[in-house]
Amino acid sequence: MYRSILRKVNSIHAQFQIDVFPVPIHIIENIISTNKFCFSHRIKMNQMIVIDNTIISPPKIDDTADYRYKLAHELGHIILHPNNHFFETKVVHNRREKEADVFAAYFLMPDKHMLFTLNAGYQEYDWIELYGVPEKLITIRKQLIIDSLNTKLRTGEVV
Ligand SMILES: [Zn+2]
Repeated sequence: MYRSILRKVNSIHAQFQIDVFPVPIHIIENIISTNKFCFSHRIKMNQMIVIDNTIISPPKIDDTADYRYKLAHELGHIILHPNNHFFETKVVHNRREKEADVFAAYFLMPDKHMLFTLNAGYQEYDWIELYGVPEKLITIRKQLIIDSLNTKLRTGEVV
């Protein structure tokens, strides 16, 4: 279902040779800068938004896991939804939010590494530390694995 997002994530991982987990914050910031986006940290902001080519965000939040997730989510918007969408409908908006979350989940917990994690017997609560992500993203990632397994069972194809 989200195979095109997975493909994009994999190509970024290959391009930037990401093999350290949790994915370091500066690497995500670097990829965002490579895409010609810059940051504007504002004390009064409590969430990240993208306007034109600027990511307006709170000062680096004390919660590193949350900051990592939000950065990866915004990178998802940059890669998947390259235009500003102030006039998008609610349905489109919700879909794009979901896609950016799926991007973040694949990006911070990539397939190959997840396979190793699952084979090594790490439990879900270990993932939080292993990948430095908030619980919300673990839930999304788990659902992607379940969806992928269901597709395999239904179609017999390797996803
Ligand atoms: Zn978003």
